[in-house]
Amino acid sequence: MNDLKSASPITQLKGVGPRVADRLDKIGITEIQDLLFHLPLRYEDRTRITPIGAVRPGTQVAVQGIIELTQIKFGRRRSLLCQISDGTGALVLRFFHFTAAQQKKLIRGRRLICFGEIRNGPATFEMVHPEYRPVAEGETVQMEEALTPIYPTTEGLHQISLRKLTDQALSLLKSDQDNLLQDYFSTIYLDDKHHWPLAEAIRFVHRPPPEAATDQLIAGTHPAQQRLAFEELLAHQLSMQSNRKEFKQHKAPLMIATGSLRQALISSLPFQLTAAQQRVISEVLNDLSKGEPMSRLVQGDVGSGKTLVAALAALQTIEAGFQVAIMAPTELLAEQHLHSFRRWFEPLDIPIIWIAGKLRATERRAALAAIAETDRCVVIGTHALFQDQVEFKKLGLSIVDEQHRFGVHQRLALREKGKTDGLTTHQLIMTATPIPRTLAMTAYADLDVSVIDELPPGRKPVTTIVIPDSRRDEVISRIASACVDGRQVYWVCTLIEESEVLQCQAATDTAQQLQAQLAEFSIGLIHGRMKKDEKTEVMGSFAAGEMDVLVATTVIEVGVDVPSASLMIIENAERLGLAQLHQLRGRVGRGARQSDCVLMYHPPLSDQGKARLAIMRETNDGFIISQQDLELRGPGEFLGTRQAGMMRFRIADLLRDQGLLPRVERVAKQIMESNTGIIQPLIQRWRSHGVDYADV
Ligand code: ADP
Ligand code: MG
Repeated sequence: MNDLKSASPITQLKGVGPRVADRLDKIGITEIQDLLFHLPLRYEDRTRITPIGAVRPGTQVAVQGIIELTQIKFGRRRSLLCQISDGTGALVLRFFHFTAAQQKKLIRGRRLICFGEIRNGPATFEMVHPEYRPVAEGETVQMEEALTPIYPTTEGLHQISLRKLTDQALSLLKSDQDNLLQDYFSTIYLDDKHHWPLAEAIRFVHRPPPEAATDQLIAGTHPAQQRLAFEELLAHQLSMQSNRKEFKQHKAPLMIATGSLRQALISSLPFQLTAAQQRVISEVLNDLSKGEPMSRLVQGDVGSGKTLVAALAALQTIEAGFQVAIMAPTELLAEQHLHSFRRWFEPLDIPIIWIAGKLRATERRAALAAIAETDRCVVIGTHALFQDQVEFKKLGLSIVDEQHRFGVHQRLALREKGKTDGLTTHQLIMTATPIPRTLAMTAYADLDVSVIDELPPGRKPVTTIVIPDSRRDEVISRIASACVDGRQVYWVCTLIEESEVLQCQAATDTAQQLQAQLAEFSIGLIHGRMKKDEKTEVMGSFAAGEMDVLVATTVIEVGVDVPSASLMIIENAERLGLAQLHQLRGRVGRGARQSDCVLMYHPPLSDQGKARLAIMRETNDGFIISQQDLELRGPGEFLGTRQAGMMRFRIADLLRDQGLLPRVERVAKQIMESNTGIIQPLIQRWRSHGVDYADV
């Protein structure tokens, strides 16, 4: 396939000299085929004039109207406003940058045709910096016949140039179809609705014919688009599965052990494992005994007891004579693990080594030496774990907690660390971000997935209320009566600003205020800028019940486990994602006591904001929350930017095209089994070249 590809360099096209070729290269286009797969990001409808009375905000439309008034408005920002009307309604054109000459030409009574996005303005709908031109007396306006494709591009490469180039590529496609564009799909892989021949689908998407269904095209649901989206999702799936298959070819250490250490820990626990924990641990043990590297994701809602599953996997590994590394996204969480593992493992005589970013030089050297020398041990830390100086003697298993906080690359880096005598380390990844099944198939196609779908018995669902921050006084008295009842309280400060300094400042101020208002109780403070020892001390004294209220930044979001805390207040809750709120709320409801969570928001709340907080009030189920969050926000935000990076598609949209995924998975399986020759060419032509499709 490669030789076919390089048979058609982009420089064969007219108008592609070295300079244009250079720019095309920037967006990943070096071959004619690349150009064919450089698909429009969206379409603009310049085929018809929309009556102003019928425009909707958020849509791109062409309108025509007569200028009623042009004036400069002096406000926060000086702007030129030009009101036009067409008898069905009026619309304001707003310009922040304008010239006197431009202003002079916008004379009352003159007719304009404008194209742009409709927005809500202070008084009427507006277009900000629309494209426009005057229409002469008696002129009949020539509209486009079909939708206008808009391509992702780069500086110095105009839409018009891209359009001309794709025109040329498409005309070659007509004459030289098989050579340029191989269609790997016979109808066996596609149902009737989706089996458009590839060349036709490509042509259609680049140059939708005038009679094409506009609404479908703009929404991305036209069968031609779906044909391509299917292929793109399939290519993605094949790429992930090939990686995984390749990974499984590696040899990994066999973890042969009697299980005596595991048994010792289990019998020392004051509770029984849940059935879900048992099932997941047996899946993990099975992986560890196969001699191929485990790559397993354990998904389990907040509080489902993932740490214990990790601990049992660790014990199996240690008994077999290997080291275990546990990596957590924050120092606070790493430290919680340090506590749990000390409590569980020290009676079993297993050394635990701590390695974080902020160690003193001597401590650090000692830790590094221990990691290089100790056969059977647990190393716990933050991403400091995969710095270059860290050399493991015999790493057998690496455990990554709350992996949504890490990038895929960090996960892979830790995997690389683990090459011991040509053997690849096993990897266990834990996350509390429950991902709807369809998405998980795509996001984690390179992993095996286990789900802990059960909470330990006796947990009472947290009761959640949503109130405006104007009722802060009521909240304070609620805290007072809770403290009188001997309950412990978290007060979580979140801030508009990204700045950690400001966050910590806000938390410090809040702690002072609360101490003044709740003088008879003891108020503690924890935030990200405190020294590790200070944090440890504060957490320790809160856990020991010496403190009534703990004011915190979102540092406590992940993993913190103080079962006696039963009331949580979250300030500016509307600013946080649902997954984050769910994580935070999961810090309470861990003990026998009924727990409550107060979500305070700063009015006014948008409709979406209302809907989101309502979901939090209505359910404690992480899966329902994540499905709803996905629907409200779309997959990009949902998966977090780091992961979204690998999930950026040219034409597919995970949310819109969820329905295609089960079939994608099925077909991928067939191809992996019996048609492996088409895998690489498919992956290759859909491979993303680092173009930021989301930003165009
Ligand atoms: P998460 O899955 O959110 O990481 P943790 O592992 O922190 O949850 O567990 C939450 C709490 O539940 C801890 O205090 C842990 O000791 C406790 N726990 C774990 N498994 C069980 C069980 N089977 N029965 C009762 N409590 C359990
Ligand atoms: Mg955890």
